Amino acid sequence: MPTLATLSGLEILDSRGRPTVRAVCTLRSGASAAASVPSGASTGSAEALELRDGDPRRYRGKGCLTAAAHLADPISAALAGQEFDSQAAFDAALLALDGTEDKHRLGANALLAASLAFARACALERGQPLHAAFAGMLPAGADGFALPRPMINLFSGGKHAGGQVAIQDVLIVPLADTMPDVLAQAAEVYQCAAELIAERFAMRLLRADEGGLAPPVASAEALLSLAVEAVERAGAAPGRDIALAVDVASTHFHAGGLYHLDGARLTSEAMAALLVRWAQRYALVSIEDGLAEEDWAGWQALRAQLPAGVLALGDDLLCTNPRRIRQALALQAADALLLKVNQIGTLTEAAESARLAREAGWRVVVSARSGETEDDWLADLAVGWRGDYIKIGSITQSERLAKYNRLLEIAAETGWPLRRIGQG
Ligand code: PGA
Ligand code: ZN
Repeated sequence: MPTLATLSGLEILDSRGRPTVRAVCTLRSGASAAASVPSGASTGSAEALELRDGDPRRYRGKGCLTAAAHLADPISAALAGQEFDSQAAFDAALLALDGTEDKHRLGANALLAASLAFARACALERGQPLHAAFAGMLPAGADGFALPRPMINLFSGGKHAGGQVAIQDVLIVPLADTMPDVLAQAAEVYQCAAELIAERFAMRLLRADEGGLAPPVASAEALLSLAVEAVERAGAAPGRDIALAVDVASTHFHAGGLYHLDGARLTSEAMAALLVRWAQRYALVSIEDGLAEEDWAGWQALRAQLPAGVLALGDDLLCTNPRRIRQALALQAADALLLKVNQIGTLTEAAESARLAREAGWRVVVSARSGETEDDWLADLAVGWRGDYIKIGSITQSERLAKYNRLLEIAAETGWPLRRIGQG
């Protein structure tokens, strides 16, 4: 059984140049591993609290020295020398030390760094690949192992770009059979999109937080049309070779009960109707956060109206929180979970969210954050937890490529097939 020797923390920088937390976990056997946590910008209000120092003279208050220091004291100070027979036992000890609902005492960033570093050190001790260690945290599925299909950011707007359009992401979902072919197709579409932007707007590439292109289009529909054009220019058929998806992130343009989109003010009903039209017109396979995080009635209406096979995917709505997932299940408000472990703060709680979603027959999309690090555990997590999709961002920028490259490695090592759309 793994015995904790020490945990320590370090303040490091994420892909936006903002502080975040890395933990190093050493077990008594000598196995030692590090893990780094990401950070979001378009966050949901029900997310666990990311502890920031608040000192305006350092990183404008966003320092993580306090959170990083919590790894040594109180976490390591309290838990060193203890044996843990499972990840669940270790995470339960972390939660007891924090003792708050939203993890504000020690910080969800400190807790998750500890949780991940412990998982990695245990995998190392057992001589297991990290994805196999993650797989052991969930009940085995009847469906066998397959690799998650990437949903790849092509265009960005909203809080990840200059706000030129309100919606946050247009993503491509290459339907090729292998991971190398999926990435090659995505790279070609990205190049074609960059050429289209250069021709049409006489501008050089402007990249958003996740490496997506941020063209100065006038509307969300113009962005979707441009994505269709880029797919066609790459010699692929939209919907047959490459599908599209959107992260509307509509919480962030919802005010006073209305959706402020492209100069219009839409009621919840009108917004849902618009999304249904987009799904039909642009061959969408998934609509993430089509309605705002507290617009439960709007989600119900959308879910009921979407054509079969188009996911109503909850990010801000669900915040990887079992309580909110249960609510969505009771109301039939969604049918897919966007899973971000730092929204909840420990692996065990996130695994519970994944389990709930799976048992309800939902799809699971394992997702990165807009502020990422060069760590690659997300790829192992998406494989081990049998994610249907993985959403990492664009195929540019090393904090994203670390995960895509790890997926290529896992694909080569295991020979597992890529999950097909519509496969359970
Ligand atoms: P975030 O964006 O990491 O800024 O929350 C990602 C997303 O909304 O899916
Ligand atoms: Zn989102």
